[in-house]
Amino acid sequence: MEAKDEEKCKQIDIELIEIDLEIAQLQKRKSDLIKHKEQLKYLSYQRQTDLISDKKKWTHKDFPWYNIVQETLKNKFKLETFRPQQLAAINITLSKHDALLIMPTGGGKSLCYQLPAIIDKGFTLVVSPMVSLMEDQIIQLNKFKINAKMISSYSTKEETKLLYQMMIDGKSMLKLVYCTPERIAKSKIFMTKLQKAYNLNLLSRIAIDEVHCCTTWGHDFRPDYTHLTIFKPMFPDIPVLGLTATASSKVITDTQKLLQIQGCALLKATFNRPNLFYEVKWKPDNKECLDEFESLLKNKFKNQSGIIYTTSIKDCENLKKELRERGCKVGAYHAQLEAPLRTKIHNKWLNGEYQAVVATIAFGLGIDKPDVRFVIHHALSKSIENFYQESGRAGRDGKKSTCLLYYKLSDVFKLSTMVFTTQTGLPNLYSIIKYCLNSKDCRRKLIASHFDESWESIDCNKMCDHCSTELTTKRISITEYCKDLYEILNVTSNNDMKLTAQMLLDSWYGKYNKKMKITNIKPPTFSRMRAEMIVGELLVQNYLAEDFHFTPYSTISYIKRGSNHSKLLQDHQIHMYISKEKFIEPNSKKIKFL
Ligand code: ADP
Ligand code: MG
Ligand code: ZN
Repeated sequence: MEAKDEEKCKQIDIELIEIDLEIAQLQKRKSDLIKHKEQLKYLSYQRQTDLISDKKKWTHKDFPWYNIVQETLKNKFKLETFRPQQLAAINITLSKHDALLIMPTGGGKSLCYQLPAIIDKGFTLVVSPMVSLMEDQIIQLNKFKINAKMISSYSTKEETKLLYQMMIDGKSMLKLVYCTPERIAKSKIFMTKLQKAYNLNLLSRIAIDEVHCCTTWGHDFRPDYTHLTIFKPMFPDIPVLGLTATASSKVITDTQKLLQIQGCALLKATFNRPNLFYEVKWKPDNKECLDEFESLLKNKFKNQSGIIYTTSIKDCENLKKELRERGCKVGAYHAQLEAPLRTKIHNKWLNGEYQAVVATIAFGLGIDKPDVRFVIHHALSKSIENFYQESGRAGRDGKKSTCLLYYKLSDVFKLSTMVFTTQTGLPNLYSIIKYCLNSKDCRRKLIASHFDESWESIDCNKMCDHCSTELTTKRISITEYCKDLYEILNVTSNNDMKLTAQMLLDSWYGKYNKKMKITNIKPPTFSRMRAEMIVGELLVQNYLAEDFHFTPYSTISYIKRGSNHSKLLQDHQIHMYISKEKFIEPNSKKIKFL
C-alpha cells in the first residue's frame, strides 16, 4: 500500500474507534434510561399495591382462620413463632389475593404456601425448578404427616396414575403437589387433570418457587418458566404466590407481567443478615494463597464447617487436591460429578467427615445446613446477587459466621469472558468488582443498595471489615495514571497489537518499552497490587473497557479505552479512595501510602 493510503487507513481506524466509543456511550445511556423507567414503573406498582400490602392489616388477629393458623404452626410444623412477613403472606394467600414474596434464602418462604395448603380444601400446586429441592421438602412434609406428592421424570407409571386419581378425589386428603415447570409445559395429561381438579374446586392455590427463573433479568432464567403464563387465563380465580430471593425491580415487574398478576401484593422481608461478617481480601499468589487457606482451615475455622467457592471445575479440583496434600479434610463438588457421588460428598460434609466442600456454584440450591460457619470465595462471584446467595449459606442458625471474598484482577477476566454475551453479564460482574475495590464503605450498606434497601453502618454493628476497624482513607487522583495507560494503548494499537490487562500492566512497568518504543511513561513506583487496583477502578468507572475476541479455543479479553475517555479531554479528574490499613503490602512490614 502506498504511504498516502496507509495514512488514510490509519485515519479511518481512528474514526472507527471513536464511533465505537460513541456507540458504547449511547448504549450506556440507553440502558440507564431503561433502568430508570423500570424503577418508575416499579414505584407506581408499589403505590398501587401499598393498600393490599399494608402490613398492619395483614397481621391482624381477626381473620377467621387465625386460630387454626397458629395451631398448625405449633402442632404440625413444630414451630414457635412466625418470622417477618410469613404471617402476612399466609393471610394474603388465604384471602385469595395474588402475591409475590421476596425473602432472602433461608428466610422461610416454603412455610408460606405449605401452611395454607393444609388449611384449605383441596391441594396447592407447587412449581419448583429442581427435583432435589422437591424431594427434600416432601421428605420433611411426610415426617410431619402431611400428604404431599411430587411428579417428575423419576416417578413410576403407577405412582403417576395414583397421583392423578388423588388429584381429582375430594376425599384423598392430598395437600401439596410438586412439579417442575417442564411438566406444565410438556404434559397435556397433567394439565388435563389439573383442569379437572380446578372444576371440582380442588385446586386451592398455585405456588411458584424461585419465581425469578421466569425472566432473563434474573440470575438463572429457565425457558420453561415462561409457560407458567398459562395459569391466570386457565385458573383466573386461583391465587398465585410467587417466591424468590431476587429483589431487583426489573425482575419483579417482569415476573408480574409474565404471570399476569400485575398489581399483586408485594411482600418483602429485609435482606440484612446481621450475623454474617463480610470481608474482602486481596488474593495473593497461588502458593501464599494456599498457605492462607490452610491456615484458615486449621486455625481460625478449626473444627468448624464451611464452603469454599471456586469459579471453574478445574480450579475446584486443583484446590481440593492442594488442600488435601496439606492435610485438610475437604471434598470437591461440581457439575461434572455423577449424582450419586455428589450426594456422597454432600453427606460427608453434613456429617462432619469433611470440614469444607470446595465447590462450584453447582453446590447451592437446597443446602440447608444450619451451622455453616464460613463461606470463602476463592474468586469473586458473577454478581452481587450471586455473592449474596452463595455467602448467605453461612449462619442459617443465626450464629456469627464469616463470609470471606478473595479478590484479584486476573480472576475478573476468567468471569467476564464467560458472561459478556448475556445482557446483564458485564454490568452485574462490574457491580461486584466495585464492591471488592471499595475501601471505605460498610459492606452491608453496599449490598443493601443492590436490593433497593438502605441500611446504615449502625445496622452493621461492626460486622464487616470496614466497620470493625478504624480506617484511614484518602481520596487520590488517578488521572495521570489513566493518561499513561492511554498512551500505552495508543502506541501498541499503532503497532497493531492488542493488550490484555496483564500485558497492559507489564507495559506500564516497562516490560515492552524498547520493543514498543514507549518513551514518555514513568513506570509506577508502587506495587503491582496497587497498579491492579487502579486498572480495576478505571474499568468500573468506564475509563477502560474490555474488548472481547474469539479464538477457536477461547475468548480473550483485551483492554481498550472506555466510554468515558473523552471526559479526560475536558480536564476531568478521576478519583479513587484507598485506605492505609488495606495497603500493608505483602512481604513488607512498612506501610506505603500513596
Ligand atoms: P427459603 O425457601 O426462604 O430459602 P426455607 O423455606 O427453605 O427457606 O426455610 C429455611 C429454614 O427456616 C428451614 O429449615 C425452616 O424449617 C426454617 N423456618 C421457616 N420458618 C420458620 C419459623 N417461623 N421459625 C423457625 N424456623 C423456620
Ligand atoms: Mg426455598
Ligand atoms: Zn459494615
